[in-house]
Amino acid sequence: MASRNPYSSFLDSVEKPARYIGGEHFVVRKDWDKAISRVALCFPDTYEIGMSHLGMKILYDEINQHEGMLAERVFAPWVDMEKEIRSRGLNLVSLENFKALSEFHIVGFSLQYEMSYTNILNMLDLGGVTILSSERGEDEPFVICGGPCATHPEPLAPFMDFVVVGDGEKLFSKITHFVGEARARGLKRTEILFELSQWKGIYVPAFYETAIDPMTRMEVVTGVKPEFSGVVPERVQRYFVDNLREYPFPTKSPIPHMTAIFDRFSVELARGCTEGCRFCQAGMIYRPVRERNPENVVQMMMDGLKNGGFDEASLTCLSTADYSAVTPLVIELLDKLQKENATLGISSLRAYGLDERILDKLAEVKNSSLTFAPEAGSQRMRDVINKNVSEEDLIKTAESVFSRGWTKMKLYFMIGLPTEDDEDVVAIMETAGKARQKARDCGVKNPTVTVSVSSFVPKPHTPFQWSDMIKLPEIERKQNLLKEHAEKYRLNFRKHFSKISALEGIVARGDRRVGNIILNAWKKGARFDGWDETFDYNLWVSCVEESGLDTSIFLGTIPMNGKLAWDHIDVGLTDRFLEIEWKKATKNRLSPPCGKVAGMIVHHSNLETLEKTFDVDKRKLVCYHCGVACDLKGMVEERRDFLSGMKAIKDEPYVAPEKLKKDIIDFREKRNQTVGFKYRIEFSKIGPITFISHLDLQKVMQRVFKRANLETYYSEGYHLRPLLSFGPALTLGISSLTEYFDVRVPNEWTDFKSILAKLQEHSEPGIIFKAIEVIDNKTPSIQDSAKAFNYFVPVKNTERLNEIVEKISSQEQILIQSYSKKLETFVEKDIKPMLLKLTHGKLNLSEDILNIIDEVSPCRGDGIFITSQVTQGSGVRPSELTAFLQGEGMETDRPIKVGIEI
Ligand code: SF4
Repeated sequence: MASRNPYSSFLDSVEKPARYIGGEHFVVRKDWDKAISRVALCFPDTYEIGMSHLGMKILYDEINQHEGMLAERVFAPWVDMEKEIRSRGLNLVSLENFKALSEFHIVGFSLQYEMSYTNILNMLDLGGVTILSSERGEDEPFVICGGPCATHPEPLAPFMDFVVVGDGEKLFSKITHFVGEARARGLKRTEILFELSQWKGIYVPAFYETAIDPMTRMEVVTGVKPEFSGVVPERVQRYFVDNLREYPFPTKSPIPHMTAIFDRFSVELARGCTEGCRFCQAGMIYRPVRERNPENVVQMMMDGLKNGGFDEASLTCLSTADYSAVTPLVIELLDKLQKENATLGISSLRAYGLDERILDKLAEVKNSSLTFAPEAGSQRMRDVINKNVSEEDLIKTAESVFSRGWTKMKLYFMIGLPTEDDEDVVAIMETAGKARQKARDCGVKNPTVTVSVSSFVPKPHTPFQWSDMIKLPEIERKQNLLKEHAEKYRLNFRKHFSKISALEGIVARGDRRVGNIILNAWKKGARFDGWDETFDYNLWVSCVEESGLDTSIFLGTIPMNGKLAWDHIDVGLTDRFLEIEWKKATKNRLSPPCGKVAGMIVHHSNLETLEKTFDVDKRKLVCYHCGVACDLKGMVEERRDFLSGMKAIKDEPYVAPEKLKKDIIDFREKRNQTVGFKYRIEFSKIGPITFISHLDLQKVMQRVFKRANLETYYSEGYHLRPLLSFGPALTLGISSLTEYFDVRVPNEWTDFKSILAKLQEHSEPGIIFKAIEVIDNKTPSIQDSAKAFNYFVPVKNTERLNEIVEKISSQEQILIQSYSKKLETFVEKDIKPMLLKLTHGKLNLSEDILNIIDEVSPCRGDGIFITSQVTQGSGVRPSELTAFLQGEGMETDRPIKVGIEI
């Protein structure tokens, strides 16, 4: 039998309880006892961030596909939840079977950002797992990590049993299978690690020796311990999958029932990048570029949208515009999405050189803002970082965008880049100012250009890995300089929290000794260090001071002839390539993108031009022989296949339409008409789903309609969402047997039974569709129609039920302290006139319904039925009812709303 959520009884006392309930659409809840291998996929940040992460979706889908293997999700609890868990002596549990981390075979962390490391230690501790790998017991889980930061894992070496370097598909399920099997066979912990340490892509820190390098003063890995010599590799090679097509992107991942940071369906378009930006770690460590077939991308996108009921799609990769078949792909996608009343997230197209056809199509849906990342303001600086974009490109892009009706643009830059001076910093605002001026030249009266500036942090495995990092006072001085110039050019300026960047610099290039600083910081209370509101800079400063470590080792210029703390991880790049790129940077010299023909910014958009370039002109792709040895011939062949598959055959001249189509806008305008058919739908919201907010409930319902393919009128704005109107908001955690919403649809519904069945089929657990009623334009809204709410308050000390019901019924006044939002204080309120009826008894419901309610509110015993009058949509709050009854000595559980009288 599945475990119950151990947090149910107090979820209403924490912020965003929906983070902790699980049970989403497409959740995979396998039989715990039947699984031979169990892995906890841990994301060391909040639910809404982790649920947007594509890697988690890929691994969850991959592992759960295998019989006998089980993957469950665990996210970092927010600080309020941690307090509740600790004060109650509970464990951090997974969202599927609610199992503590200590009960899994593998506890795997996704490392996306160095500033989440204290959350890892916190999750282990809350999950009942020993923090230091050297002290972990024989039967404890293997604690492992993967993701981009796993390519420089030394600060986490004291805590990890092993590190997975490279792509997770295939390798991760192989590891999971092996560990489960090995455990079942009774293999010892060290035996399992010894076997794994010989696999490509696996690093077992405890098997390696370290020493201080005299040149860099870093604690570096010097080689394997003598007992493993000749068997365990001296350098750990990155594991990568050659062909992403063998691993289709999952289209049925759990759909967050609270707003996630990326609230849309995303498909990974490609992995790797050939632009060669010298600051970008992802661009280096994910080489070679591997693209998904565009036809598959379209299919996965449309399946995912339909399965999930999303209204927005997005394409994810390091540089979308550099995907080889971007033009035909985006054009086809936009056509298809428009038919499904969905849009393409423009932020994912953060790029230059977008085809005119794409821009025209995007302009039809009038997205409010476009985003671009020039990264540096001056041309010299862009040459240093190898950003192959000129100011001319940027201004041309601004013209293309603003002349099509956009009024907003976001630009991303960095400060603190190698060789940067004040002139380069000021150039950021000058460049953005020119973009704004272009908007005005295009007739935009009040254009908004937002300039977002972060601080450069040198990262391992990049040509800038030897560079020093800008110092904190210097970051602040440059931010002030930017602020001054932003005002001059009337730009919106957003800056990154400089103190977080300073610390990120230490952890990113840190060695094993930095692990002690992280441990100490966690012990002192550091949590969510990437969040401005929780980051405690002084705490970290004290930990760094206590460690006695000279941080200039990690923040200053690193000698090129010394050993680095990440040298034992071989991501595929040669030292020579990185050195040449670093030297070119210091001489302001560009390395045009590789994998493209010299001089080409974007790829061919059709076969005709591709063939002319390669077959007729016999041109070749640029390559710097970085070490990953791309199959350049194969790349050209693949592009030929992609374009031919997308039927992008000829170089047909594009004639821009005189007037952009406004189909979608016209469609939206229908919302104001009184035509169509209006219905009122009755439903129950019971069990764990009661912890999602009213706003999130509306989104869930909109998705249910989209999944059920039921046509409605749509809401205003960029997102085309079914237009539903709801009654008063329910208190979080209160199960309700009867709720309503109204919907207007273009086609008459004749078979209510089948509509209800369709809605139910695509619903979420705990939302039960009950009835449909025809209404018209004159029908008052649910808000105005509700006359009374009926509640059932479960009571434990039932011997006093009669007495209390009689007492309340006979009292003339019942005074309670009620919180007034308007006055922001408690006021005295007489609730007696609102209490229309009181009786006692039991809930008479089916066993199925009782079971769901019971998950969060014990409801099988006796209790008090209360009918409370509603005025202007509100009456006595459930919390006020229980507080009053508890004041009378009654032991109550959460009330249940059993009806609305309208
Ligand atoms: S091998 Fe050549 S084409 Fe491939 S990523 Fe390296 S430099 Fe670019």
